[in-house]
Amino acid sequence: MPPAVGLPFPPSPQSAQSPPPYSPSAPPSTSPSTAAAPSFLPLDQLFTNPVFAGGLGLASLGAAAAFGRRTLIQGTALLRRQLLVNIEISKRDPSYSWVLAWLAQPRDNSGFIAQRLTRLRSLSVTTTTKSLSKVAGEEGNGRTHADFRVQPGFGHHIVRHKPGVYIAVNREKASTATTATGEPHETLTLTLLWMHRHVLAEVFTQAHELAQSFQQGKTVVYTARNMQWTVLGKPRLKRPLGSVILDEGVKESLVADVKEFMAAQEWYTERGVPYRRGYLLYGPPGTGKTSFIQALAGELDYSVAMINLSEMGMTDDLLAQLLTQLPEKSILLLEDVDAALVNRRQRDPDGYSGRSVTASGLLNALDGLAAGEDRIAFLTTNHIDKLDPALIRPGRVDMMVRIGEASRYQAGQMWDRYYGDVDTDHKGRERFLERLDGLGLFGGDQKDPAVPKRHTSTAAIQGLFQFHKGDMEGAIKMAEHLIPRTYEP
Ligand code: ADP
Repeated sequence: MPPAVGLPFPPSPQSAQSPPPYSPSAPPSTSPSTAAAPSFLPLDQLFTNPVFAGGLGLASLGAAAAFGRRTLIQGTALLRRQLLVNIEISKRDPSYSWVLAWLAQPRDNSGFIAQRLTRLRSLSVTTTTKSLSKVAGEEGNGRTHADFRVQPGFGHHIVRHKPGVYIAVNREKASTATTATGEPHETLTLTLLWMHRHVLAEVFTQAHELAQSFQQGKTVVYTARNMQWTVLGKPRLKRPLGSVILDEGVKESLVADVKEFMAAQEWYTERGVPYRRGYLLYGPPGTGKTSFIQALAGELDYSVAMINLSEMGMTDDLLAQLLTQLPEKSILLLEDVDAALVNRRQRDPDGYSGRSVTASGLLNALDGLAAGEDRIAFLTTNHIDKLDPALIRPGRVDMMVRIGEASRYQAGQMWDRYYGDVDTDHKGRERFLERLDGLGLFGGDQKDPAVPKRHTSTAAIQGLFQFHKGDMEGAIKMAEHLIPRTYEP
């Protein structure tokens, strides 16, 4: 029988009884007496090996440390869950900008604003600029006015809300881009002690009130940017309805219709009719279409959500998406709807392949206009003839109004707004209107059939009066500037 090689293992009792003494200088014996129970790595030798034993000790220590660390992390997490409350606000939520503004704003007279801002070590600034214009009574000369809005920057901050109540703020950008434009998504996390959780309601209420106070007496205009609604500039002072002069009775009937609609929610709900109403304002540019819609929004205390359909990058999908996410209490204003009614890719012979809204895309988006809240949509166009008849259907467009060239009535009303206080006997107004008659505006001069019929816009009249502010004689003298110049080579 051939001798067993290397086995059995564990070693035989005989070899276990007399373990060879270990000597680093003397290698373990391989004498024939132990060859009966041969072992390449006997366990006891292994454990008595100081190198191995030391390694084992270190490994155990490492394992213990790792275990301790994990327990500590889990314990801290558990403690955090038990003791703290976190609230995460997404950038997509309207409260995101409110809370950011609130964090950087004075709240009361107890000096907390200074505390809050000085505790915020990392700040970010949003700058809005506007040209100083004569219209707003500012001295322009091409200068611009800049507004800087300071907000907490990205990272961690601790703010003191009131004595003994601290809020940890973490503003961060998501590492993965979530918006279609590739812009990183942002979140704001507020962390408070569990026992201070009631403060959260306070924070949100104050932030909302602050946002409201910014908008008090103002009209917010939203526009589509980066595939979502964003506030366009700063909220503007409400435009009084009286400052928009439309032809006799036009403004009154539009306002009455909108108000009637707003009072009729029950009627729509009972009949299962989508609670929306569409208006189409058409006519040449500079006649007050946009101004009227802004003034109406101010009158109703609504904001304006504006989309220009001829804008580059506006597609059917984007339009549909925006219309389902309309800001609350807003009037939808779709400008230049005629731009949507030709598929440019087919039209342009020069190979223009810009993306655009198609006729059916606009109709679908209008039909899908979010239900629930009242939805008022104003469509404007300078080219009524280009519109698809399918657009003018109840539910899409319920009322069409032509806002045309300036009429005699409008010119008189505008005169009163500018010179009413100096022209108390209305003689100036009569001379002005006669002068316009003489120029062939409002359908031609009756006395002189040779004078051609001409038109002017209310924007041009406003421009003339602005130029001759407080100088009615100057306005009468320069009235021929209202006639559009034509160039005949
Ligand atoms: P549209 O939208 O018809 O092109 P806008 O409303 O943009 O015209 O008017 C352009 C400018 O002319 C604005 O500054 C506005 O104040 C003035 N304007 C035009 N029409 C009127 C009007 N009917 N009443 C008051 N202002 C007007």
